[in-house]
Amino acid sequence: MRNVAKIIGRESGRLIVVLSAMGKTTDAFERLCHRWFYRDGDIESVFGEIYRYHNEMIENLFGAEASLPRVERLFGRLRELLEGETSMSYDYDYDRIIPFGELLSSAIVSAYLQWTGLPDCWVDIRKCLKSDDRYRSANIDLQTSRQWGRKTFTFEHTRIYLTQGFIASTMTNQTTTLGREGSDYTAALLANLLDAESVTIWKDVPGVMNADPKLYLETVIIPRLSYREAIELSFFGAKVIHPKTIKPLENKHIPLYVRSFLDPQAPGTVIGDCDVRLQLTQIFIDKTEKILLTLNPR
Ligand code: ASP
Ligand code: MG
Repeated sequence: MRNVAKIIGRESGRLIVVLSAMGKTTDAFERLCHRWFYRDGDIESVFGEIYRYHNEMIENLFGAEASLPRVERLFGRLRELLEGETSMSYDYDYDRIIPFGELLSSAIVSAYLQWTGLPDCWVDIRKCLKSDDRYRSANIDLQTSRQWGRKTFTFEHTRIYLTQGFIASTMTNQTTTLGREGSDYTAALLANLLDAESVTIWKDVPGVMNADPKLYLETVIIPRLSYREAIELSFFGAKVIHPKTIKPLENKHIPLYVRSFLDPQAPGTVIGDCDVRLQLTQIFIDKTEKILLTLNPR
């Protein structure tokens, strides 16, 4: 969190910060949703786990006794939701519960930025990213979202906006989600809709690597990739970029930087237009828990 504030503080231009949920919060919310919807297990323990995790973060940042009104309101709303009835559709209810992860993290970061002297610039992205009602993997209505996006992110009173990745809403304001790990995609969409200069994804790895550094010893960073190669990599399962992220950027020739918040000065990887054929090193993508079937006709 402190790193995030430092990185934001270092930027001098106009900025939209897109946040995803903290740590493994989304997994915890998935467990909560499953138990609530199917009445399968105790929801109090998961709720408590999520509540404590966020409050520990708040205490660490702001000191003991600290409480953030926006965060408390969100937990209140979540509580109310859990006390109410489930709907008939798991996917619809999933999209009512899971987004709390992003709403909470953005509320905490926003409060922390304010605390460090930056103005409050929290935006509920559901106001401008409009989608169809395909819950859990909603399709964005680009035209409407562009209109609302331009009205929302005017940069008139602030230089920095803070908002949520991964979530959107339908025309009737039902919350939707864009698919797991969809925050990068949100950033790419906003960049496309608002004609951003560039997008940077901050990760816990130094850039796009030729293999997962958690599994391989001698990995190297790939300094430059074309959009096409990046799409290919993510399509085959390189987890560093969400597969849908590249296209909105490629369409507008917006470069995508992948950099490490553990080492913010390092250059990382840039994905963009490439006119030369790059000499890439060999790339390894691990696929676990898969079975390869080969069928031969007799
Ligand atoms: N929080 C969401 C997830 O874990 C979206 C994201 O992280 O990009 O899938
Ligand atoms: Mg995530």
